[in-house]
Formats: sequence, C-alpha cells, structure tokens
Amino acid sequence: MDARGIGLVVSLVSGSALMFAGCQPQDEAAVADPVQAQQETRAAWVDASRVANADAEPENWLVHGRTNSEQRFSPLDLVNDGNVDELGLAWYTDLDTNRGQEATPIVVDGVLYSTSAWSKVQAVDAKTGRLLWQYDPEVAGIWNIRACCGVQNRGAAVWEGRVYFGALDGRLIALDAATGELVWQINTTDQAQSYTITGAPRIADGKVIIGNGGAEYGVRGYVSAYDAGTGEQLWRFYTVPGNPADGFEDETQEMAAATWTGEWWTEGGGGTAWDSFAYDPSLNLVYIGTGNGSPWARALRSPGGGDNLFLASIVAVDADTGKYAWHYQTTPGDTWDYTAVQHMILADLEIDGRPRQVIMQAPKNGFFYVIDRITGELISAENIMPVNWATHVDLETGRPIETPGARYDETLAAKKISPGPAGAHNWQPMSFNPETGLVYIPAKQEPLIYVLQDNYEKRPIGFNIGVNIWDPVEEFADLGPEFGAEFQSSLLAWDPVSQREVWRISQEGPEQGGLLSTSGNLVFQGTATEELIAYDATSGEQLWSAPTQTGVLAPPITYSVDGEQYIAVVVGWGAVTANVLGVVTNPAGTNRNISRILAFKPGGNAELPPPPERVTPPDPPGDFGSEAQITAGASLYGRNCSICHGVYAISGGVLPDLRHSPMLAAPEPFKSVVLDGTLLANGMASFSEVLSEDDAEAIRAYVVRQAHQ
Ligand code: CA
Repeated sequence: MDARGIGLVVSLVSGSALMFAGCQPQDEAAVADPVQAQQETRAAWVDASRVANADAEPENWLVHGRTNSEQRFSPLDLVNDGNVDELGLAWYTDLDTNRGQEATPIVVDGVLYSTSAWSKVQAVDAKTGRLLWQYDPEVAGIWNIRACCGVQNRGAAVWEGRVYFGALDGRLIALDAATGELVWQINTTDQAQSYTITGAPRIADGKVIIGNGGAEYGVRGYVSAYDAGTGEQLWRFYTVPGNPADGFEDETQEMAAATWTGEWWTEGGGGTAWDSFAYDPSLNLVYIGTGNGSPWARALRSPGGGDNLFLASIVAVDADTGKYAWHYQTTPGDTWDYTAVQHMILADLEIDGRPRQVIMQAPKNGFFYVIDRITGELISAENIMPVNWATHVDLETGRPIETPGARYDETLAAKKISPGPAGAHNWQPMSFNPETGLVYIPAKQEPLIYVLQDNYEKRPIGFNIGVNIWDPVEEFADLGPEFGAEFQSSLLAWDPVSQREVWRISQEGPEQGGLLSTSGNLVFQGTATEELIAYDATSGEQLWSAPTQTGVLAPPITYSVDGEQYIAVVVGWGAVTANVLGVVTNPAGTNRNISRILAFKPGGNAELPPPPERVTPPDPPGDFGSEAQITAGASLYGRNCSICHGVYAISGGVLPDLRHSPMLAAPEPFKSVVLDGTLLANGMASFSEVLSEDDAEAIRAYVVRQAHQ
C-alpha cells in the first residue's frame, strides 16, 4: 500500500490512523499494543492472531461468520431486547445492480467491505455509508446462463490489507483494501465449462480457500487453496473422482472412485463446493461442504448405484496440504440435489455430560446434524422440517433410512419428495448463540415432484440435471393451489444438544433471509415481506421491524463505530427460488428489487427515498399458434427459461415478466433476444446452440397463451 492510499482511508474514516501511517508490519513487536498498531496503520490489516482474538474486538466483523467458528453471533449488546425499538435507519448506500443480493459484509476498523450481484465489491464508510471505492470485475453477460441460481455473490474476505473475492466467471481476485485497485487475479476454473463462483472465500492462515458451483451443468467439483500474497495455487481437493484411466490424484480419490459405477466422469459427477467452509486453526482442518450429484439422478451418472463420495458430504482436509482427514456423507448416493454446502458452525457443546468439539449443519436434506469435528463421528441427527425421503438417520451406521419409492430414478415413477431441491434449508446462514444455546435456522418447506427425464443427454449449455422439472406430471396435475400452499418457511430456534425445536415463527412463502444473533438477546432476519425484523432470542417474540422496500435474502451483521452499534444488511430480492417460483413467491405481482446496503442504529433517523411507482405493464399481443406448438413451447420454455423467468412464465418479480415483454409483439424481436443474444449485456445470452427458430416461435406462442391465462 502506498502513502496516498493510507491517506485516502484516514481522511474518510479515522483521524487517529494518520499518526501510525509510517509503521510497517515488522514494527509490530516494538509497539505496546500490536493489535492496536495494526488496526491504526493499514486498511483491513487482518491476520491470524487478530482473527483468533476476534472476541476482543466485537466492534469489527473480521471474517465471513464473524469468527472462524462461523457462529454469526456478536458479543455486542448496546442494542438489546430492552432498547431495540429505538433502532432507526442510520444510512443507506445504493447498489448499481438489480439482481438478488446475498452478501455478508466484512467490517474492519470503520470500513465495511461488501459484494453485490455480478461480483462487484464495495468499500463503504461504516459510520456514514459513504462509498469509498467500488470494483467491478466486468463479468461477461454469458455467465448468467452458466449459473444455476443467479449472478449473486455471498461476500469477500480480507487479509493483511487486501480484499479477496470470487467472480462469477471463476476468477479469484485480490484488491488493495485501501484503494480498491487490482493486486492479482487468477482463473480458478476451466473457462470452457460452466463453473461459477458465488460463495465467499475463507482464509486459513494466509491461504485463500475457494470452491465453485456447476453441478447442474455437468462439472467435476473441487476446492483450491491459493497463497494470499502471490495467488500461487497451494493445493486442490477434488470432491468427486475423475476418470480412473487418467490416474487418481491420490489414494483418497481411489477410495472415492470405489463408490461410483459406470462412466461417471463423462457426466462430471458434481459435488461442487459453492458456499460453506469452516476452519479450525487448533485442529488445522478446513471443513468443506460439498454439493449434489451431476446430473441429479444417480441412475444417470452411476447406474450401478453406490454412495458416490464425496457428494453431499462434509469433508475435513488438512489446511496446509489439502489432504483428506475424514468425511461424513449426509446423503449417500444423492439423487435429489441434496447438497451439504449449507452453513457449517463450529461450537463446543456439553453432550451427555461430555464436552464435545462439534460441527453443526442443516443441509438441504431436512436433517440437522451434530458431528464430532475431530473425528467426523455422527453424534445426533433429527429432522427440522417435514421429510419423506428417509424415516430417520441411524446413529449406529450414520446412514439415513430411505423410504420406499424415494428413488424415483430406480422405480421410474414420479414421486413428490420433501424437501425438494431448494432444501429444508439452503445457503441462508444460521446463527448459533452460545448464551441461549440455540441454533437459529432459516428453514423452508418446498417439495418437488421428481420425474426422471426421458432420453437424457448432456447438453453444451443449460441445465443437465436428468430430472424433468418442466413438463406437468399427469398424476399430479390436479394439485393446483393446494401444492402452492405447501411452500412455506420457518424461523426455527433449535436446541442442538437435545435436538428439539424450542420455538418457531411460521412465515409466508418459501424464501427468507439469513440470520444474526447477538448478546443483546436478539435474533435479526430480513424477510420476503420487505422488512428487517428483530426477535427475542429466548422467546421468539417479535420486538422490532423496519421496512426495507425489497425482499431480503442476505444475513445481517453487526458492528460498532465510535461507541454506537449498527445492524447492517444488504437488501435486494431475487434468489433462484424467488425467480423460478414466481407462482408462489409473487402471486400479487408486486415483488421488486431495490438493491442497497442498509445500516440501522439506535436513534438513526435517515429515510429511504420513496420507492419508484409500480409501472403497469403493456398488454400482450393476441393468442396465436396451434395447440401442438403451444405444448411444445411449454416444454421448451420450462427447460430453458423457467429457472430465471419463472415456471408457467410467472415471473418472480425481479427478472423480466415475459408475459408483458414488448419483445412478444412479433417473431423478429423475440428471436433477436432468444437466438441472437441482443440483450447479452443484461445476462440474457443467446440460446441458438439449443433452440431453433421454430423453437423460439413455439416459446413465444406459449408465453402469449400464459399472458392471457
Ligand atoms: Ca444443486
């Protein structure tokens, strides 16, 4: 960092830092309080000792889960159950994207570092919201259709004066924390394949840990560690084995390959680690949460069965070498998109009179797991939401007991399964409050009718899941609104020791925001209903709420500056469930995205500008096309368009509602978008590789029909 960079931050953030501006890191030993010296000399000067002692500086939020334990609990209690009703908006910062926001900000010494959709990074004065710098990696629009679930980003990491983040197109990027200038960037993925990064990196003592997504597209998952200083790759751990003919990377891959059958490597296999990691420095272990199989249906990737390691697992690896230590597989032989990439929390609990170092997770499959994080031994597992694919988890073997018919890919019979592919819990982080002893879980209920896809074949672009989620299933055709009513969510307070529910808030719709709990006996959550809400952490009583003008997905954080405590959250609706299930999440057609960072504090009196008027959409053109064309269009729409624009062409309210698109008026403008990619810059890439002109016209006929329904 240069002196000009220091001056920039000092002048905007903290006058006291200036006096230490000449200190170098090697001077640390010479000053009385090295932590203070570090704080006051350099922007985002976070290192191992500072993270290890994060509880000594609760004013900051140094790493993704606040501490390496990923508990998302803050010891701050200036805001508490007695005065939370005094919270008001302190500031807001507009974000220049209108896609879903999922980031956890980092706060170091009065500066808040966040990310937004399309992998942009912001540094903001944490006291005023003033934008200090923004970095845009200029991800190409094509990556929108290589990402299953939107162009979201879940946050950055900081380390020794730099900000690290993953870009949607697979780059890992290091910026100067003071100026936002590029330090280095590297490709972590094969650009010819549909690998994407949406998760936040973690830093294990100077090693940047990053995974990727793509298990809906036919890739082989892996996690890599890079030197924070240079960007040099230090190790890579593959979450599924490759082609044995190429030779295994090590004996762990050989062991994993014994649990696969057929020619799985031609399908990629999946197992992508796209969100959660945890790091225990005392055990020197990095915990990897791994994703679903690719394609989803096991019969299509491992036709002779098998557990398919390391799908849907927690894998512990040596932080220095990436070598395998242990694994626990939550869903052996996954065939339902039951990722175990969900938030993992490290805690020390007393269980059966014995202190246990545990790791806790609620993966998509509906169970809450408590696992010994030294050995990987399963301690307990209970379901947190309705589950019908398994009756329970057998504690002797650690394996789920599956129900008859759950493997639709073997019975070849459509089956309604709970949870569905969005899980009983998705990426939205939980929070563990050591004072109440409770884990707070943003849980959900979102069943799916699983049907094996006929004549499955891997395609160059678009979904490769092997499950037909787009054509109506005849035997379930009469479910109608009743089925919609099954889509719900719950804020759940869960006792991880006794594995039982303590309280539950039932919520409308399947998707809500992530969680924060504090020593003020509070739990904070943003909602689909455009509010940030505070609950009593002990009782679940709602104590406070504030309007956010848009739905909230991201988890709140808290920090303090100059003796005032702030609650901050990145708002902006538009996760995959919200988009694909507009029929459930946007029945009133009023959902919208207004992306911002909001910060609240006691006595805050800032006001959001009035939201823009909701515009009346143009009328659709008249019906056209034969019934056969419309039926074909429905299927093509479902397979190619619904994941963004909504099943049945009912928009989630964030991405364009095609039923009211001006492009519908005639064949040419519609084709120019769908086949020629004229809106590529917005993320609407050409589908000419998989759709013909007749296909595009059939889709147009179907969408027009839907517009008149
Ligand atoms: Ca998935």
